[in-house]
Amino acid sequence: MPVTISESEREGLLTIDLRALVENYRWLRAHLQGGGECSAVVKADAYGLGVARVAPALFAAGCRTFFVATQPEGEALRNLLPAEAIIYVLTGVRPGCEASCARAGLIPVLVTTAQIQHWCDQTLGMGGDESLAAPAALKVDSGMTRLGMGAKEFAGLIQQPALLRRANLQLILTHLACADEAGHAQNSRQLTAFSEMVDRLRQVCPGVRASLANSAGICLGEAFHFDLVRPGSALYGVNPTPTQPNPMRPVVNLRLPVLQLRQVIEDSAVGYGATQTAVAGSWLAVVRGGYADGLLRAQSGRGRGVAIAGTDRIPVPMLGRVSMDTTVFDVSALNGRQREQLGLIEVLGPTFTVDTMGAAAGTIGYEILTSLGHRYYRQYV
Ligand SMILES: *Cc1c(COP(=O)(O)O)cnc(C)c1O
Repeated sequence: MPVTISESEREGLLTIDLRALVENYRWLRAHLQGGGECSAVVKADAYGLGVARVAPALFAAGCRTFFVATQPEGEALRNLLPAEAIIYVLTGVRPGCEASCARAGLIPVLVTTAQIQHWCDQTLGMGGDESLAAPAALKVDSGMTRLGMGAKEFAGLIQQPALLRRANLQLILTHLACADEAGHAQNSRQLTAFSEMVDRLRQVCPGVRASLANSAGICLGEAFHFDLVRPGSALYGVNPTPTQPNPMRPVVNLRLPVLQLRQVIEDSAVGYGATQTAVAGSWLAVVRGGYADGLLRAQSGRGRGVAIAGTDRIPVPMLGRVSMDTTVFDVSALNGRQREQLGLIEVLGPTFTVDTMGAAAGTIGYEILTSLGHRYYRQYV
């Protein structure tokens, strides 16, 4: 008698645990002894987990400030949350979209003096006072050399106090390049550079708030917290302290149904490219789930899962290359009774996490999350 698979498990069951998400949010917030605010980064559809469920759950847990990547993401989020939610757009605003951005109640993160000038020109009077632009944020480069205003341009901007005041800046932020390496010298260099920029800006705009830390930055200690922290990945279960045990609770669980359980009679090359061999007598489980579902092909030959047989959980390795729709596991470690009870293989959960799958694929947990496919049945608990 084959194991019965429920309808929700037929193409893979992706379970997103909103209680764990909220616990992770509370854990991060509890780290802010200095009384700073804990926001939530929900860009890229909340790292692939579904912003429509994630953001309201975080709002209910007390989160009031959110970061998205793009204006369309911000507009969608605006419709999901009460008006008191503050929404920043990390990649700013495109020329010509300033008024629509401000009207949507979104705060763009600006990175050049020209953008600030445009923002003032296009939204003057939308900041609650005729002489004020709509609220904006400024991102500075403190050493990562990605998006952000460099030190020289910043020094020039500080010489324009009238422009700065008109720009209605709410927040100055920067981003750490090496926060996940607690001992890296660049962390303290960026901290020093940012602190100086904050002090200089506050001489012109005294009320402006400051924000430095992402998830891993929060774990670097209070000096990195400033007024507002911006965790993303840790909310969703990624380890913010990669050299230590993960303090976060896993948020995603992914179980794939076994399509075929077979024993090979002689040594047999498995899958495309015949890269690995199943030895004679091996038992193989072919599951529904492949690289088109976000099981990155780069983990071929290294990925692992947990065979679920009744109440037994048996770790099993992938064998051969990940295909578009299917993946093969070597389940020879199961005994006969366990084979009879095998219906699902868990590839993400408490045993193998987004971090371990990322490592197997030569990437990071973030990419595993944002790659999660859309053919799975998604269930929120
Ligand atoms: C994505 C992002 C974050 C969140 O980073 P995590 O490492 O996921 O916590 C914070 N700040 C900025 C500017 C970002 O782009």
